[in-house]
Amino acid sequence: MDLGIEGKWALVCGASKGLGYGCALSLAREGVNVVINARSEGPLNEAAARIAGQTGVKVVPVACDITTEAGRAASLAAAPQIDILVNNAGGPPPGDFREFTRDAWIKAIDANMLTPIELIKATVDGMIARRFGRIVNITSSAVKAPIDILGLSNGARSGLTGFVAGIARKTVAHNVTINNLLPGMFLTDRLRGTIAALSRSGGVPEAQIEAQRRASIPAGRFGDEIEFGQACTYLCSAQAGFITGQNLLIDGGTYPGTF
Ligand code: NAD
Repeated sequence: MDLGIEGKWALVCGASKGLGYGCALSLAREGVNVVINARSEGPLNEAAARIAGQTGVKVVPVACDITTEAGRAASLAAAPQIDILVNNAGGPPPGDFREFTRDAWIKAIDANMLTPIELIKATVDGMIARRFGRIVNITSSAVKAPIDILGLSNGARSGLTGFVAGIARKTVAHNVTINNLLPGMFLTDRLRGTIAALSRSGGVPEAQIEAQRRASIPAGRFGDEIEFGQACTYLCSAQAGFITGQNLLIDGGTYPGTF
């Protein structure tokens, strides 16, 4: 199937590695030019060179913190237009909610709710005027099945999800869709970091924790960042114009509910 997005421009946030990288590479494989950002210049430039080398599209790396106004402005200015927006940033730290300070809450809300909203605000009217736009927010399976120690994430991402639910029904009349992708367990650096922290605090070997986690996934394996990127790319395709305001779990069957 030709996804009909060759030559379009995408901004993919948090894309030097992990799920964002999977999205950027997969879009680039369909001929989409990509602006990618991340905070560290070295790994970002390496990722950009890898994507460009494998696909031949234009890849523009912008080293910045996307949760800042300057970072967003630089990322937006790096493309002639944004047809596809993939919102993503690091997730907030885990902890006991009694210890979350107001500052920690503001940081989480800034990164995982307000930053995507600002980027949607900056791009959606251009998409509407051109009668094509695809926005995908990387959230978390914790939006559907909250994880107790991830209170900051549960709260901030649910705020984004509620906001998106409202506007996604307005933009679709102009062929601009907005959807959320909810990752379950993907063995990226983020999950590796969580496993290492659990190992240190509990005195259990990392390999044992990793095996336990893997065994808890009905698919019997962790997710792969490229398959995540491919799901994202389908949502960004010309064919996906009738899908909006949805929350799609990609979790190997971990979420146990019927709906
Ligand atoms: P990762 O740590 O592997 O990669 C994160 C990427 O985002 C990196 O490129 C990093 O440089 C970039 N980044 C982080 N903060 C940024 C910022 N402020 N500005 C610009 N770039 C920034 O993480 P991942 O596993 O790919 O996770 C991506 C998102 O998905 C996170 O919000 C995470 O909480 C969420 N998530 C991941 C999983 C999983 O299993 N990996 C599960 C549920 C939710």
